[in-house]
Amino acid sequence: MPGRGLQSMASTQERHPGLDLTLARRVVIKIGSSLLVEASTGRIHRSWLEALCEDIARMRARGQQVVLVSSGAIALGRRILNMSEGSLRLEESQAAAAAGQVALAHAYSQTLSSSNLHVAQVLLTLSDTEQRRRYLNARNTLKTLLDLGAVPVVNENDTVATEEIRYGDNDRLAARVAQLVSADCLVLLSDIDGLYSADPGVDPDAKFIPLVPELTPEIEALAGESRSGMGRGGMVTKLIAARIALGAGCHVAIANGRLERPLLAMEQGGRCTWFVRHRSPAAARKQWIAGSLKPLGSLQLDEGARTALLAGKSLLPAGVTAVQGEFERGDAVALTAPDGRILGHGLSAYTSAEAASIAGCQSSEIAGILGYSGRDELIHRDDLVLFGV
Ligand code: GLU
Repeated sequence: MPGRGLQSMASTQERHPGLDLTLARRVVIKIGSSLLVEASTGRIHRSWLEALCEDIARMRARGQQVVLVSSGAIALGRRILNMSEGSLRLEESQAAAAAGQVALAHAYSQTLSSSNLHVAQVLLTLSDTEQRRRYLNARNTLKTLLDLGAVPVVNENDTVATEEIRYGDNDRLAARVAQLVSADCLVLLSDIDGLYSADPGVDPDAKFIPLVPELTPEIEALAGESRSGMGRGGMVTKLIAARIALGAGCHVAIANGRLERPLLAMEQGGRCTWFVRHRSPAAARKQWIAGSLKPLGSLQLDEGARTALLAGKSLLPAGVTAVQGEFERGDAVALTAPDGRILGHGLSAYTSAEAASIAGCQSSEIAGILGYSGRDELIHRDDLVLFGV
């Protein structure tokens, strides 16, 4: 079996040298409940977690940034609160998550601290990635944590999430997080080693698919339902997750997390399914800003700001001479050059009222004017796209 896996991966890598976990700059790793929590005891699978954390420490030592999206809160909480077997009512799973999340975060923190890595818990609700203002907040916080060298451990905030307002499964959450942090690789660790042409549990002729160069409707039709008892995601949600992440310029891998060292196995060419992205996270984000967002206002720039933007810099309040329209933080605005030409679009870090108050001022004056210290930039360079440049 391992031989076959190595073989298929070797041919994958020949065709796609970019699909190498060790080369990714920022990696999101999704860890399912059924990997982390032992079904028989409801406790953390310690030796597995320790081995995984050693691999994460090695990735960090290589300079790679790692975000973990881990399930397991509800499964752990059930045991902690002595809850009965069988399906839980909404308020019961919320209660289980509240108790289990403490144990979950503690387990990661304890295990990664032996490699001198700091864990930061981030609990997200659907609106944190679907509403632009909250999206920017979550993005900034996660990026700051990564810059500070921490390993964010993300989960859905199950305690407040109800059916209508939840991601529902951590595959989709992980894809949204990959999009949020502009990750270049998303690894979905699962209880299956990747995608097959049919359900391998049912069809002995099912063929393993090591590489998906294009996520077509035919490929999506291959997905069956989850067979694992604990997590919510199945192959269907993994493919939805893959579509979201690919759209954000992120390579995706589905790999077998049941191995003792799943990340090491991937690095060594072990069996997994790679989905190939067609653009970088930066290009995907710029396309999103340029194409799908209607500007709700505009900022008039002075000549200095125009030159700075053309040189790839961010827009500072000092370079803005006027603010038009009404917009919220995170809304798209047009950037107007002194000659009246629209230079591009960007996401404003301030509301229109705030932008009008700080226009023409130095960034060091922002806190004095607004009464709180926001970002130095009115539009960060990652959040703007210039036309014809
Ligand atoms: N957020 C849930 C938990 O931590 C799991 C969701 C899933 O299994 O995908 O228990």
